[in-house]
Amino acid sequence: MVIIGGGPAGIMAALRAAELQVPSVVLVERNASLARKLGLTGKGRCNVTNDAPVEEFCLRFGKNGVFLRGVFSRFFSGDLAVFFEDRGLKLKTERQGRVFPETDSSSSIVSLLSSELKKMKVDVRLRHCVGKIKIEPDRKIVFFEGAEPIATERLIIAVGGSSFPVTGSAGDGFAWARQIGHTVVPLRAGLVPLETKETFVKDVQGLALKNVRLTFSQGRHRIETPIGEMLFTHFGISGPLVLDVSAAVADLLDQGGVQVSIDLKVGLSSQELDKKFQDELPAAGSAKLGNYFKSLLPGRLIDIFLRAAQVDPEKKCHQITAMERRHLVVTLKAFRAAVKRTRPLSEGMVTCGGVSLKEINPKTMESRIVPGVYFCGEVLDLAASSGGYNLQAAFSTGYVAGESAALSLEAK
Ligand SMILES: Cc1cc2nc3c(=O)[nH]c(=O)nc-3n(C[C@H](O)[C@H](O)[C@H](O)COP(=O)(O)OP(=O)(O)OC[C@H]3O[C@@H](n4cnc5c(N)ncnc54)[C@H](O)[C@@H]3O)c2cc1C
Repeated sequence: MVIIGGGPAGIMAALRAAELQVPSVVLVERNASLARKLGLTGKGRCNVTNDAPVEEFCLRFGKNGVFLRGVFSRFFSGDLAVFFEDRGLKLKTERQGRVFPETDSSSSIVSLLSSELKKMKVDVRLRHCVGKIKIEPDRKIVFFEGAEPIATERLIIAVGGSSFPVTGSAGDGFAWARQIGHTVVPLRAGLVPLETKETFVKDVQGLALKNVRLTFSQGRHRIETPIGEMLFTHFGISGPLVLDVSAAVADLLDQGGVQVSIDLKVGLSSQELDKKFQDELPAAGSAKLGNYFKSLLPGRLIDIFLRAAQVDPEKKCHQITAMERRHLVVTLKAFRAAVKRTRPLSEGMVTCGGVSLKEINPKTMESRIVPGVYFCGEVLDLAASSGGYNLQAAFSTGYVAGESAALSLEAK
């Protein structure tokens, strides 16, 4: 059996096949080391899964989540936790059910997986970049750049998506899938930052805002986020709140311009803010408005905010008019920017789109078009919000692909 791609999906497929005693399991990886993308996950801490119940887990994948129900019934978050903990790596659960290794280090996950491959005697071939594949009636041939081709009865394609291509997942699997007759659902960046028209963002790049709520709107369409954290970047906005709704915002952008408004004071209603200003501004006397705002907003944002509210930061607090007070309230509850576009696919944390699930057997991960070829992981049309869901899907689909390919060989 040959598995292309040494990321979480390919590694888990190889381990499961080896566990089922497939005589030869070859795992090929273009990089000099395994699982480079996994090393970057969770800001280097690896948010490896989530403790959400299975129904909620599937919902995170949108309408394609139903495909995962059967997969998760075979290998889910509890099984993944047992897999790591049985091998000595303890996991811990943090806010929003996010599960991390207790080491707080993705490299502990990667090294556990690597040593497990060694223990299970998987033939790992690093620096083996697959250039093309050829399907013949009774075998699949895998061609490398600069190495002898190998032929196999069962081929598992686990080469990931197109995002963060520096990690090795450069979209090769989509070309092969098309070549053998599969439909590839159009690709787009998921969990991706957004560019804004306004350039003030450059002046506040790196500034994170906690406890804010974002509303994206276009005509009658609105996408409201929960309360959370966002980040200004040199081109626009990012951070957990932005990344999680980015795919939906991309859909809106297809239909025209999108506005984002940031509620900078979610804990106070407009009335409460107005009352606060009525009480506090006269009492602040001849203090400059810019100084008064230091208790309300991060320093770097104050001038930009007051410009948006059209109130002079040099103006004395007791001179603020009722109209200006209203502008301050409105701008605090809806600090606006225009969204220009998403950053490119290469900058998305996941790839939306991919090999159409209609052509994959959800019980086995086997192609319905070419028997003996299996797909797993992000190469499939599966992408979820952040929180550990994507890695679990990679591990779970990999497990099922490895198991099914192994059992089909046994049944011959
Ligand atoms: C910055 C970042 C942070 C993330 N954080 C999280 C997180 O905390 N939690 C979470 O759930 N998800 C996270 N994700 C998403 C998650 O990493 C991916 O969904 C997951 O790695 C997909 O696994 P995979 O095995 O399908 O593909 P990949 O991990 O992309 O692995 C595919 C492998 O195939 C190899 N390959 C590709 N083409 C070839 C070829 N032609 N020949 C040989 N080998 C090839 C690649 O080199 C690569 O090693 C994050 C992603 C990014 C970019």
